[in-house]
Amino acid sequence: MPSAAELIRQIRERVSEVDPREVHEIANNGNQAVIVDVREQHEYEEGHLPGAKHVPRGHLESRIEGAAPDRSQRVILYCASGNRSALAADTLEQLLGYENVESMTGGITLWKDRGFEVDVPRALTAEQRTRYSRHLLIPEIGLEGQLKLLDAKVLLLGAGGLGSPVALYLAAAGVGTLGIVDDDVVDLSNLQRQVAHSNDRIGVPKVDSAEIAIKEINPDVDVVKYQTRLDASNIMEIIGGYDVIIDGVDNFPTRYLLNDATVRLQIPVVSASILGFDGQLSVFKPYDGPCYRCLYPTPPPAELAPSCGANGVLGALPGTMGLLQATEAVKLIIGQGEPLVGRLLLYEALGASFTELKVRRDPDCPICSRDPDEISDEEMGVFPDYEAFCAAAG
Ligand SMILES: [Zn+2]
Repeated sequence: MPSAAELIRQIRERVSEVDPREVHEIANNGNQAVIVDVREQHEYEEGHLPGAKHVPRGHLESRIEGAAPDRSQRVILYCASGNRSALAADTLEQLLGYENVESMTGGITLWKDRGFEVDVPRALTAEQRTRYSRHLLIPEIGLEGQLKLLDAKVLLLGAGGLGSPVALYLAAAGVGTLGIVDDDVVDLSNLQRQVAHSNDRIGVPKVDSAEIAIKEINPDVDVVKYQTRLDASNIMEIIGGYDVIIDGVDNFPTRYLLNDATVRLQIPVVSASILGFDGQLSVFKPYDGPCYRCLYPTPPPAELAPSCGANGVLGALPGTMGLLQATEAVKLIIGQGEPLVGRLLLYEALGASFTELKVRRDPDCPICSRDPDEISDEEMGVFPDYEAFCAAAG
């Protein structure tokens, strides 16, 4: 048996090596090679080659395909000094059939000595790495996506049936700032579905009760409370600066107002509504897909509007729809997947069926057919028969 030093020497002899100077030229010339850092997580976090992918040597066999799916493409591995990357290059060639693998001579140490730049990524704390470990394992999220979630600001309109599950799951997911708009207090009749609240918080403002529930799940979340009702006088100020809005409002006048304000500010809205056993969901991303008014140019007749009084709803239904909203919000934040833009998802709980309808932008839409700065304060939230609307519903 050769000694460890002898083994490494033998392997380094049969593996192709490439000088940092050449790697630097390759890196500056775009997609000529995949550069892979095979060091441990903490080493990578202290600084790595710009654009390098990270596949720790301990996960080489299971994760290299994610970084370099094409076995004939040029792959350059590096570590701290060139030993571990040589061993890893040997593994890729001998065991995994990679045809064009090189190890960078002298590792990142020589790279730095040559004066080449190093990217120092933002890192998670040890506690955050544990807390979000199941996100970090998903390639679509990973460290980059988790940092986006931590930087994100999401506004929940309503801390009721829909807002409760959204608040809990977005808090758990690590969304850094959650704003909550709700002027109501917790009532016993809410507890059949509004899972952010509890028996001992009956009579407590919902924004305060939701904050307690959020902090219990994830103390890192910044909660911004607005114990008020959205209206034309405060909406622009409240919603400005948020990245995504979760619409759980239960009345049409506010929905139109919200639509017009979010089109002006170009903030995407994840909208859901529920009644009985039926739920609806869509994402209104201004100028990317239709807005709420493109779908509903006028509200339904007041007597059919479910919004003006108390209505029955299956307790689990807002949970289902709220979690779909939370999922869409995460997708928008991390920029992955196909958000429900231009699509209306209908869920019918009794039949256990989902239906999807395509919805298009209305070229004559009174709001989103125009530039955002052409929309005036006076027209926001206005629709035909606005005043009479809820009065008629009694
Ligand atoms: Zn529109």
